[in-house]
Amino acid sequence: MPLRIQLECGCRIEFLDENMGKWCQCKCGNSTYVPYDIWYFFNSDLDLEDVFQVFSSRFPTEKDDFRHDGENAWEWFDGNTTEGDIGFNISRKHTVSRSDPENPVKMGLFLYEGSPAPSELGQWLANNFGKTVTSKSPGHLFDATYFPE
Ligand SMILES: [Zn+2]
Repeated sequence: MPLRIQLECGCRIEFLDENMGKWCQCKCGNSTYVPYDIWYFFNSDLDLEDVFQVFSSRFPTEKDDFRHDGENAWEWFDGNTTEGDIGFNISRKHTVSRSDPENPVKMGLFLYEGSPAPSELGQWLANNFGKTVTSKSPGHLFDATYFPE
């Protein structure tokens, strides 16, 4: 049986090979980037490697569970936590200043059952990076801004 992502509007999108890595539209027109169902954005002066280190201090990820790669404009980490509760894609352009508001760290997360709630994650990111974090999700139910506490 194909895996499906349940959108906040109630529709489901199947995880088919032809859907992967694309924006997919449900019946009512909401778009979601498959396979990620929530995106967090924040600026950070840290190297992307250090950003990933902070993330994996909370969500342990063994070497075999992710790829660290890049091309001429982008650098990224993608994979799954070792416990398998979160899929992630963490990326940023390495050609643009880290402080440029147009060049935030983009953290796409797929939250499997048992993973923390989107709001808990957003607040954790804000606190641990000491930055304002915004989130966007399909259906916009989890769109929010988090401030460091
Ligand atoms: Zn829908």
